[in-house]
Amino acid sequence: MPAFDLRTILLMSAVMPGLVALVMSSMRRNFPRNIRGVGLWALGALLESLAVIVLSLRGSVPDWLSIIAGNVFLIGGIGIWLAGSQRFYGLRPSWRLIALLLVIDASGLAIMTWIYPTGAGRSLCSNVILAYLYGRHAHVMLGFGRKDKHALFVGAMFLIQTIVTVMRIWTSLQASKSAGGLLATDLMQKIYLGCGAFMGLAVTVGFMLVAMNRLRIEFEKQSLVDPLTGLLNRRAFVREHADALQIASRKGGFLSLLLIDIDHFKHVNDTYGHSIGDDVLVDFATRAAAVLPHGAQLARWGGEEFAALLPGYVLHDALVLADSVRLQVSSQTNTELPDYTCSIGVASLQGEAASIKELVRRADGALYRAKHGGRNRVSPAEEMAIASAVASFS
Ligand code: GH3
Ligand code: MG
Ligand code: MG
Repeated sequence: MPAFDLRTILLMSAVMPGLVALVMSSMRRNFPRNIRGVGLWALGALLESLAVIVLSLRGSVPDWLSIIAGNVFLIGGIGIWLAGSQRFYGLRPSWRLIALLLVIDASGLAIMTWIYPTGAGRSLCSNVILAYLYGRHAHVMLGFGRKDKHALFVGAMFLIQTIVTVMRIWTSLQASKSAGGLLATDLMQKIYLGCGAFMGLAVTVGFMLVAMNRLRIEFEKQSLVDPLTGLLNRRAFVREHADALQIASRKGGFLSLLLIDIDHFKHVNDTYGHSIGDDVLVDFATRAAAVLPHGAQLARWGGEEFAALLPGYVLHDALVLADSVRLQVSSQTNTELPDYTCSIGVASLQGEAASIKELVRRADGALYRAKHGGRNRVSPAEEMAIASAVASFS
């Protein structure tokens, strides 16, 4: 069986996080702009790899490279990881603190290498800083990544590394045990290095999984939202309806649907331009959403058509609400936009009869009548209900 020495294991373990970092870095280019910090995670992992390579060359290269540069890369990489996680969770990165820790470490190590040489002192200096950065990072990941098991994993890794580093500090304070330096073979040093080597890879892979999970959530969100108005799109609306229908079927409640179409919208586009047309659509979304009650679902049905789902609303109440939307839209006060109006078809069905197909079919027929009745008006779907609904409505 081949025997690997500690130095070989260290060198091998250094290469892997670096490779994962390269994958992460090229993946990041396709990420939406609002997923931040992934580039810093990749950069941190590359620095970690570099640090382990340089540190394990101790004795074969000058001390300034293996001790000073190696530790600066190590602490810089761990610090950049922390900044990456802070960015990822929308926090302000602690750049000043990280820079300060780097300066303290580099000057401390320089003094303890050339002026008052002490291996134990150097180990203590770097490890205290590392323990702080690991602990702080564990706190960020466990606090902000509560809903993501990958983030919890990374947080747990940092927590373990904090504990191991604190134990290492404790043993390095026992002067007799700490004299051997980085590649010494005492048990604590083996645990410390083994843990570091494993964590480097585990944390880098963990970061990648955290980023992928965020990407998945982002795509899922984007696939349900209309990018222009920020309202639900038709697919999301159908989902919302399915949920509401389940409840209505169980309880025998009503579901009402408003189908809303902006009047003469083609004319708005032709007269003021497509961009003002877009502004009108956004304006409509804001105005309609302001009138609709909590629990209603407003969606862009397509083009200049919108749909509102009103769980628990009977036809009469839905008609009253629809007229509030119509009035809110026609009382335009924004001088930057042209005046515009909308027509609304309203359908209401009870229990499991309130399928999306049937509601839309009825509301569409009502919308057609509203258009043909002169536009800027609300029409109910049920022919038989018209007389009573209009009577109580007016
Ligand atoms: P009506 O009163 O009968 O509803 O007439 P209309 O002009 O509103 O209806 P029509 O269906 O003839 O025209 C709808 C227009 O909406 C045509 C299309 O170019 C425009 N439209 C669809 N989507 C968008 C969009 O995202 N932005 C803009 N600016 N215009 C859009
Ligand atoms: Mg239309
Ligand atoms: Mg229209």
